[in-house]
Amino acid sequence: MSTKAILLVGVLWCTRLMVQSWLILRQRRALGQHRHQVPAAFRHFFTLEEHQKAADYGIARLDFSLARTWFSAFLLAAWLLTGGLNILDAMLFVFIPHPVWQPLALVASVMLIEGLLGLPWSLYSQFRLEARFGFNRTTLKVFFLDRLKGLLLLSLFGIALGYPFILMMYHVPGFWWLPTLIIYTVFQFLMLWLWPTLIAPLFNKFSPLQDTTLAQGISRLVEEAGFQSGGVYVMDASKRSSHGNAYFTGIGKAKRIVFYDTLLQKLRPEQTLAVLAHEVGHLAHGHIKKGMWLSLFISTLGFIAMGWLSMRADIFFALGVSPTHGVVLVIAAWLGGLVSFPLAPLLSRWSRRHEFQADRYAIERTSAQGLGEALLELYRGNAGSLVVDPIYAAWNYSHPPLAERLAAMPYPAKD
Ligand SMILES: [Zn+2]
Repeated sequence: MSTKAILLVGVLWCTRLMVQSWLILRQRRALGQHRHQVPAAFRHFFTLEEHQKAADYGIARLDFSLARTWFSAFLLAAWLLTGGLNILDAMLFVFIPHPVWQPLALVASVMLIEGLLGLPWSLYSQFRLEARFGFNRTTLKVFFLDRLKGLLLLSLFGIALGYPFILMMYHVPGFWWLPTLIIYTVFQFLMLWLWPTLIAPLFNKFSPLQDTTLAQGISRLVEEAGFQSGGVYVMDASKRSSHGNAYFTGIGKAKRIVFYDTLLQKLRPEQTLAVLAHEVGHLAHGHIKKGMWLSLFISTLGFIAMGWLSMRADIFFALGVSPTHGVVLVIAAWLGGLVSFPLAPLLSRWSRRHEFQADRYAIERTSAQGLGEALLELYRGNAGSLVVDPIYAAWNYSHPPLAERLAAMPYPAKD
């Protein structure tokens, strides 16, 4: 059994790395091949210069993500092959000889080490790559303050979730996955409610969208969908980046639609209204609720697998680690990442279907021209890739490629 286990993990590790790299290189080649000419569908909307900026930005991001992917894969291998996880675990037993805090400290230490090793990557991404294309607006102060706040939140939530997890592992060894699944689900539910109202405001300012010319259109749209009209906000995204976006989040009274100020500055009123209608479409179709059910389904499978794994000491010994509670949690998280990778195309497809539904909703209530023009502006402002490799997109795109979204609406006029 032991050789089988290590062989299986090796095969999963290799396969994921190879497929990820292959996908990135496919998209990179597509961008390079079409760089010299604006794709026919966009010839009336983008200059060659804009298209080439998007291609160059896309290629730079892909190169970055390829290097990052290999780094993470080798980091994972290094943890196991060098015995680093065992050594850390043993050291913590000496310094924190407590049945619950020791495993928690192991999980926290692994996350902290990975976070510190990831820091140069984030710094490079923000202050070199994004800056080279004119997108960065973050200062080092804001950057590190963000990290610090993130670390505090992570510690708080990590303890709130991790402590009962480990207690359950002691008290109901074979079935700890069930109570922890319940705790985890309640936590996720709570987060949907707390995130928009309490946590996101720690990082950004949110002010109600005030536009008298839009006010009527907005209240008509949101009331039609049974939504409180107070829930449309503008976020000061320009504090960090000039990338624009809009999203819908939250449940119950915490439901809100958020516009990045960077997007709003670029849109005319009818375009803003169309984007708003798209977000209301997500609400009207119940996409957040559906997402919650899907995530409950996936986490149930994940927790059952984790419970099974925790009883299989032989697998841990085969991987060269001892099955202490902390190690079980760390290995389960790593294996989860390896096993869930093939699910990405299914989840992306599901999400893209929702985007088409929200687009249709917006077109029926506002105008295809407004939405189409807003999408074009969004791509122009973000240097979004106009060229896509179909397999790369199928795997990674949560939103349909721009050409497909425009093809599905009566804009621009089709001949
Ligand atoms: Zn959407």
